[in-house]
Amino acid sequence: MNPQQAWTVTLHQLEMQLDRATFETWLRGTTYIGCEEATAPGGPDVFVIGARNPYARDMLEFRLNPMIRRILNDVYGGPADLRYEVHTPAPAAEADDDMPLMRYLAQHRPAQPAPAPLHQQVAPPRRPDLPDSELNPRFTFERFVVGAANRTTYAAAQAVVENPAGAYNPLLVYGGVGLGKTHLLQAVAHACRARRLAAIYIPSEAFVNDLVDAIRQRTTAMFRDKYRKVDVLLVDDIQFLAGKESTQEEFFHTFNALYTYNKQIVLASDRHPRELVTLEDRLRSRFAGGLVLDIQPPEFETRVAIVESWAQERAVRLPRSVSELLAERASGNIRELEGMFTQVAAQAQLTGQPITLALAEGALALYDRPRVHRRPAVTLAQIVDATAAHHGLAAKDITGKRRAARINHARQVAMYLARELTDLSLPQIGAGMGGRSHTTILHGYNKVADLMAEDPLFRQELAALRDALTRAE
Ligand code: ADP
Ligand code: MG
Repeated sequence: MNPQQAWTVTLHQLEMQLDRATFETWLRGTTYIGCEEATAPGGPDVFVIGARNPYARDMLEFRLNPMIRRILNDVYGGPADLRYEVHTPAPAAEADDDMPLMRYLAQHRPAQPAPAPLHQQVAPPRRPDLPDSELNPRFTFERFVVGAANRTTYAAAQAVVENPAGAYNPLLVYGGVGLGKTHLLQAVAHACRARRLAAIYIPSEAFVNDLVDAIRQRTTAMFRDKYRKVDVLLVDDIQFLAGKESTQEEFFHTFNALYTYNKQIVLASDRHPRELVTLEDRLRSRFAGGLVLDIQPPEFETRVAIVESWAQERAVRLPRSVSELLAERASGNIRELEGMFTQVAAQAQLTGQPITLALAEGALALYDRPRVHRRPAVTLAQIVDATAAHHGLAAKDITGKRRAARINHARQVAMYLARELTDLSLPQIGAGMGGRSHTTILHGYNKVADLMAEDPLFRQELAALRDALTRAE
């Protein structure tokens, strides 16, 4: 696949995976400018992508890049990096009329264009012209395929809508990546809003950012008000709260306030609360005091049903043999299944052919290739531990506040490795490294990158550390 096609397919996949507002605002207007070949053997080719304005460019670079890069690497089949440039289209094409959110943002742009937290940019407070913008319109109960692996949890989520704060409070859903937790939480939010209940859905990372902003701008009273006035609060990915003490403190109070006033709380986590080690005990026991349910990977029949529901939704003709092929190949992670489905659908669209078993096999061969090259997953905790050990420090030195030169250096090395070896966003890395801002992480990353360019010994040292990390898996 040539780079331009790879970018087209990547856009298709992003459209499936991002909520509509995010995609329309930041990705719809991008242009493929070109692809610079790798400067060293085995190095990444660099895709140059044009953004409509500096705001969009920052958004792509600082917020969305890890996701874009991950998908592009899968699609392209070789290492690829991205660079974003402002690319102003001809004046006639300048109208942003097809982008209401963009217009909204332009009008409400802060005095200096310091990027606001992502959730605020893509999901400003609910306004009549932007209903439910922070929710993915696809994530509804109707579009959630029920099978043995998720039946109980699905039923509990519906019970919460029928009887908020009555049946199960809090409801905590946990399960592996890509198994439908976010989909289910948002389905609850959609259904609650349809019944005119005030429901806020928020990833815990955004909750943290909101809190930090509120503290900085001295608006904590408003912050509390906002979260305590709802009927249903849905917090996604609460594992990110682990290790953040002051946020946990605030969350605990919010939680208690809502609980006391008989409001519903729904939480999702990628693991059981007892495994959230650095979560305060009182918070953990609060979570565990409600109903804790898991979502398991779907069985084969459910995977087939899920693929067929997507095909129907997008009016794609998919023979049964192909949906079975996809269900067989995707090992149980629905996001992977979705990636494969998109790949096949995009291939059919690009070539103008109907979807057949042969076409699907061909498209999946492209999809499989990069996964062979794919580096094993490394977690942020492993990076912190290994970097600390390598520098004769403890992990808490890295995540802590001490600023001795040696510690600072090791910390920046960890930031660099985290950005290189994981798919985490800069804010996520910052959050996992003692609550640092994304600019701090970026600064650390650049420092280390500069040092590497200057110092061959340091380069070797870092390569060894990196090898040790990727081999350990
Ligand atoms: P998680 O939050 O658990 O990582 P998501 O909710 O983001 O996973 O789900 C990943 C993708 O798989 C989404 O596009 C979602 O719509 C889809 N998905 C997950 N479970 C189901 C299901 N039971 N039926 C239909 N689609 C599903
Ligand atoms: Mg999720």
